[in-house]
Amino acid sequence: MRPEFAGAPGQAGHAGHGGRPARPGRPQQVAEVLATARVSDHLVRLTLGGPGLAAFEAKDATDQYIKILFADPALGLTPPYDLDAIRAQHGPEGVPVRRTYSVRAVRATDAGAEIDVDFVVHGSEGIAGPWAAAAQPGELVCFSGPGGKYAPEPGAWHLLAGDEAALPAIAAALAAMGPDERGVAVLDVAGPGDRLDLAAPAGVELRWVERGGDWTPTSSRLEEAVRGVVLPADRGAIRAFVHGERETMKSLRAYLVGECGLVRQQLSLSAYWAYGRAEDAFQAEKREPVGKIFPEDA
Ligand SMILES: Cc1cc2nc3c(=O)[nH]c(=O)nc-3n(C[C@H](O)[C@H](O)[C@H](O)COP(=O)(O)OP(=O)(O)OC[C@H]3O[C@@H](n4cnc5c(N)ncnc54)[C@H](O)[C@@H]3O)c2cc1C
Repeated sequence: MRPEFAGAPGQAGHAGHGGRPARPGRPQQVAEVLATARVSDHLVRLTLGGPGLAAFEAKDATDQYIKILFADPALGLTPPYDLDAIRAQHGPEGVPVRRTYSVRAVRATDAGAEIDVDFVVHGSEGIAGPWAAAAQPGELVCFSGPGGKYAPEPGAWHLLAGDEAALPAIAAALAAMGPDERGVAVLDVAGPGDRLDLAAPAGVELRWVERGGDWTPTSSRLEEAVRGVVLPADRGAIRAFVHGERETMKSLRAYLVGECGLVRQQLSLSAYWAYGRAEDAFQAEKREPVGKIFPEDA
């Protein structure tokens, strides 16, 4: 498998694996880890802040996300990263790689902003998950963004569904809803220690489904649980926010569009990760048939 890096301040994990390098030209922000907290068995929350976040421009979206740059600690680089200079000096292998994370919460502070980012701790593989599990206050985190465009539409009937990777964005959506919103949120997690006490309107039912362990193609119960949701007869009222592992997303797209008759404008539906793929490969495959969730994009 791929090499692992312990990470060091400002060098959170690494590249060096032949993945797709970060695109140059996106403005970078350098935040500091202010606090870390284990919010569930498999979720670690890092609170990021400091002067580097003074220019953070939160979007009017509950699925806003940042792209964190992970440089190879062996290169001794200090963020922000001059990607062109790094490429010139160290070659494409030396360019920091990106990992995508939702912004779970944003708070205005006297200094500007503080954000919470919840990382799934999914084992020893990968860069961001292992780094977050061991991150300490004072470490630097370099990122671009935020991007994102979904926000729950007031008065719609909401279907929210996802695994742990989508849980931060789903939690942010639920927290932003007004008290009269209605719907169902289906949350696929490893076990009882992964349930969170989420703020949600009384009319939005939270359905936790437990896999009984790690995510595997056969352990996920997300599709089954979504199929078990009785959708309103007025299908046009539905707005869905459905994100998670790629193959499950393909199945759920087929179900929601093909069997339930929803149209694309009602759906925020995408893959957040792919089983057995580092994010570099996962992002690159979005340009290939295997990476398309909607066949018409092929
Ligand atoms: C818009 C968007 C928002 C996202 N928000 C979040 C978020 O808030 N929190 C979050 O934790 N993730 C989030 N993700 C998913 C995250 O970007 C991926 O999980 C990413 O692959 C993690 O990087 P890594 O370095 O830990 O693992 P990688 O190096 O990318 O992958 C290493 C191995 O771990 C596996 N793996 C990766 N992610 C998971 C997982 N979640 N569960 C089980 N196995 C996994 C891969 O299949 C691969 O085999 C988001 C993705 C997108 C596109």
